[in-house]
Amino acid sequence: MDTMTSQSARKSHITFGIVADIQYADCEDGTDFSKTRIRYYRNSLNLLKNAINDWKKSSDPVAFVLQLGDLIDGKNNHSGEESSHQALTTALYPFQCLKFTPTYHTIGNHDLYNFQRSFFMQSSLMNPSLSLSIETSPSSQHLYYTFLPHTKLRIVNLDTYEVSLLGYKDSPDDPNFLMAQALFREHNHNENVNDIDGLEGLDRRWAAYNGGVSQQQLVWLAQVLRKATTREENVIITTHVGIKAEFKGSNVCLAWNSEEILAVLAEHPCVIAVLAGHEHSGWDYVDPDTGVQFVTMPGIIETEPGSNAYATARLFDNSLDIRGVGEVPSYSIKLRYPLRPSQSET
Ligand SMILES: [Zn+2]
Repeated sequence: MDTMTSQSARKSHITFGIVADIQYADCEDGTDFSKTRIRYYRNSLNLLKNAINDWKKSSDPVAFVLQLGDLIDGKNNHSGEESSHQALTTALYPFQCLKFTPTYHTIGNHDLYNFQRSFFMQSSLMNPSLSLSIETSPSSQHLYYTFLPHTKLRIVNLDTYEVSLLGYKDSPDDPNFLMAQALFREHNHNENVNDIDGLEGLDRRWAAYNGGVSQQQLVWLAQVLRKATTREENVIITTHVGIKAEFKGSNVCLAWNSEEILAVLAEHPCVIAVLAGHEHSGWDYVDPDTGVQFVTMPGIIETEPGSNAYATARLFDNSLDIRGVGEVPSYSIKLRYPLRPSQSET
């Protein structure tokens, strides 16, 4: 704790915020699928505002915010599209209060219960215009992107719903949707696409609330990581659905082709961390072979009023320090490519 306090008092090279699974809806509290965890649909907005206020007041202002997906809950669309639009506007407003500070959004399953993929591709959500000196390259054809907020730090955002049963209502012939249907039915024969009864082990990931990345996205990822390694950029991967299966052995929140994604990451030493959402209870894991820190952020939606679940990350000479608030633990992640060599290396 003392170490963290003294580190946050040091000046960071760049500071940014992280938040996941806000799942705002203007409705009474409910529960998750297992009916064991409470979802605070309205209060999630208050917790988001508290996080934003903290970032606004900080003497060490955030340069950008990573929003890891499920900004609004699927319940919004039960009252029609207008209600989805209203919820989105309401949930985006706190981010807009961070004037001149861009938010980089990840699209989650709940976002796709409200809108089709085509909506997000055309939306300003995926094309932050306030990026100042931040280089960003989201394509209008894709929901995955990368940007370089510091010469030694690259963010690479994956789209784990590119191969998915969700978000293709207006493009039913899309090859990624057709592939998703074929793959899904190879593994899950239940009538309800979110029912994983009868599935064992890694097959428990075959639910419609998860998804995967396309071969095209894997090729893009490899290209980005190859270049980042050559340029000695430390890389953080962001994703809505997790890609590591170590959590409690349940595998219910895991990308359909996580092994393929991990295989690409393993070939490129630039990756230092993978930040995910989707699994609201949150968990973490350090790969003993590569040292990569995996963090699944606790979801704001299931965080009790009075607490919170967000983090502020700071880039120092030799580490990326993530200071969690409330439900989120803190981490100090060693940089693969230090900004300045440590004394022992000189
Ligand atoms: Zn989700």
